[in-house]
Amino acid sequence: MPVHLYRGRFAPSPTGPLHAGSLVAALASWLDARAHDGIWLVRIEDLDPPREQAGAAHEILATLADFGLTSDEAVLWQHTRSEAYAEALARLGRAGHLYACQCSRARIAETVAAGATAAVYPGTCRALGLVSRRGSALRLRVEDQVVAFDDRACGRFAQQLARDVGDFVVRRADGLFAYQLAVVVDDAAQRITDVVRGADLLDNTPRQIALQRLLGAAQPRYLHVPVVRTPAGEKLSKQSGAVALDRTRVLDELVRAGGHLGAPDFGPDSRAAFLRLATEWWREHWARTPTMTAKERTEDGR
Ligand code: GLU
Repeated sequence: MPVHLYRGRFAPSPTGPLHAGSLVAALASWLDARAHDGIWLVRIEDLDPPREQAGAAHEILATLADFGLTSDEAVLWQHTRSEAYAEALARLGRAGHLYACQCSRARIAETVAAGATAAVYPGTCRALGLVSRRGSALRLRVEDQVVAFDDRACGRFAQQLARDVGDFVVRRADGLFAYQLAVVVDDAAQRITDVVRGADLLDNTPRQIALQRLLGAAQPRYLHVPVVRTPAGEKLSKQSGAVALDRTRVLDELVRAGGHLGAPDFGPDSRAAFLRLATEWWREHWARTPTMTAKERTEDGR
């Protein structure tokens, strides 16, 4: 039986149907997995019911299937994972990394030091020493250090978490688990070796690496691919007016997504031909970085 050292994933949030931008991320992660003879998984990040659209998750899965992109193992749904997230929070809490924060958004905006980025939490509740309280968010106390990693596309990326991000939320005041926490817990549980996703998430990665270190999880390799933009330069998203993929024009949509990733127009006559040619091309152009060796993985404890 082949041993799959590579495990990748596509992790859409079901806030609407897939669009050209999400297809680029799905295709890139699928091609990278195929080019490494690896496993490709789909995880539905349905963590935030108020932002979700009824039926979107099933529509996403059906659309992926139309495009020939199906999960090699059972789809993981984040709404079933609360226990694992709560356990991770409990571990972080016991080790003294969390505190309860009662600041409202308005209060944070008022107290942010002049000149600082508005997104950086000024640490108002840090010294109060409050532990979990109903109705308050939980923040991770970040260490005063630089977290850096080498992205396969973007090169070295570093953040000084305390200065660039501040103590960040791992459980929201409404009780929902934060994306940063869930993504780290699930990437670890699914033994993901390679995260391939849109470059809009590049600056979330140091926070995720910080959490991996605190939870003793192995750090995957990262490849952040260029996002699709609107003519006005905004990232294509539901908010910026993205339209759903046309499921009656699968091949055209795939060729367009491939083009965005730099693939030449192979002039494929079918979906299968496109996926085969694109995988060969990806192997030559993107998959050159060696995957983790079996030895490294053993040393990692996986
Ligand atoms: N669920 C996230 C999104 O749809 C992506 C998470 C990830 O790939 O890490 O933007």
